Amino acid sequence: MIDAATELAAGRDAETGSRGQTAALAHLADLGAVAWQPDGSARWSGRLTVAAALKASEQKTEREGEVERSRLAMMRHYAEHPGCRRSFLLTYFGQDFSGSCGNCDNDLAGDDGQSGQAQTAPADVPFAVGTRVASERWGEGTVQRYDGDQVTVLFDQHGYRELFVPVVRERGLLRPAD
Ligand SMILES: [Zn+2]
Repeated sequence: MIDAATELAAGRDAETGSRGQTAALAHLADLGAVAWQPDGSARWSGRLTVAAALKASEQKTEREGEVERSRLAMMRHYAEHPGCRRSFLLTYFGQDFSGSCGNCDNDLAGDDGQSGQAQTAPADVPFAVGTRVASERWGEGTVQRYDGDQVTVLFDQHGYRELFVPVVRERGLLRPAD
């Protein structure tokens, strides 16, 4: 990556042959540091210095790691979720589904048929599922699901975050996105 950036910035051609090099170039192109030419070669675009491109690349990698970690956290929640699994999955993807399916292992294991009790959204939610919201800290995102007093938001740049609804209200943590 550093090699590709310095070669190109110096006006030399970067080898596009190896897979690692191609990935580095694609990465630099994503950041706008490199522009693909019609002949398939890559040119330094001049929009960023090498140092700025490397810094931007580092931040992008960090963000991707953060999103991935938030996904893993949600998967762990799924594994440990005591309620209806179908409801968890659907709402994880932002669909409005309350109650329980009656067919998943958790529902079938609940002898009283009440295992879905924690699924339902509070009667009076600050933002409906599917609403685009903005947070000062995490930028814009979409409301995915409610679980009791918790709301899960999928932020575009930062992945999943679970927020405590009373705190969201009290501190105005979320506002409608423009
Ligand atoms: Zn179920």
